[in-house]
Amino acid sequence: MSRIRNTLLLTLLALAACGETTAPGDRPADSEHRRPLIVASNYPLYFFASEIAGDSADVKLPEMAGDPANWKPGSAEISLMQSADLIILNGAGYEPWLGWVTLPESHLVDSSAGFSEEFLPLREEAVHQHGPQGEHSHQGVAFTTWLDPSLAAKQAMAIEQAISRLVPENAGQHRDRLAALSARLETLDQAFRETFDRLGDQPVLFSHPVYQYLESRYSLNGVSVHWEPGEAPGTRAMLALSEILRSHPARLMLWEEEPLETTSVELRKLGVQSLPFHTAANRPDDGDFFDVMEVNVASLLLNCCGTTIGPQQEPE
Ligand SMILES: [Zn+2]
Repeated sequence: MSRIRNTLLLTLLALAACGETTAPGDRPADSEHRRPLIVASNYPLYFFASEIAGDSADVKLPEMAGDPANWKPGSAEISLMQSADLIILNGAGYEPWLGWVTLPESHLVDSSAGFSEEFLPLREEAVHQHGPQGEHSHQGVAFTTWLDPSLAAKQAMAIEQAISRLVPENAGQHRDRLAALSARLETLDQAFRETFDRLGDQPVLFSHPVYQYLESRYSLNGVSVHWEPGEAPGTRAMLALSEILRSHPARLMLWEEEPLETTSVELRKLGVQSLPFHTAANRPDDGDFFDVMEVNVASLLLNCCGTTIGPQQEPE
């Protein structure tokens, strides 16, 4: 009962604060009662934290154009993070900006620190390349950990622990919500498993070195290049791909986004079909994390193992 009364009181305070005009320099009337602020460094972490926190906190994903892995926080986003009670990080080298942004260390939550021995080293094809946000490279270890739902579940667990430390009075609710989230991640894991089992040992291509944990979890027979969906790969990259295809006759290339039509056509001439497999690193236009992953599963099932793909199929 007292929880209900507290909630009512907070609601009334919040309502009162909304109608109140505060003189400049005054602390807003509800500042002592504001909900804790949690900021996440990519969309999956934001989604997990929102699901777990419920009403315990305000969870925010800063505005980021493009891939959060290439994010360079500006002054507004740095202030936002400095005012946050928790900053949820992916870890595994995902946040190079920590090198020049000063944040209170006690507020940082490295969600993958607990399984660092499972990090996958990057292979050499990962280093280099232009992109919409300028040149970038992948060095050290692979960071797209959340594409392995079992690792995503470990990250969600670390997030729950941090949120429950922040709002201990709601720890029971956080744990219940974590259990529900983990169950959904387990279902996703099964769906991925069934889908990739159908692909079996077939060679596949990855357009960008971000699928390592997926490849490892489901024993995919993959080779990665380092292309951008919005850019033509160019002659040299196409020649290099032809060379790869001699020993790795893939018929499927997974992309973070739908590639340029000209690229799809060029690939089709080599017998390779392009298929988006979104990482959900940034906020999706429609739906949530699981919706994006369900679309990934559905489009793979439709395209992975049929007989419609064949070499030398020229478009009309
Ligand atoms: Zn890259």
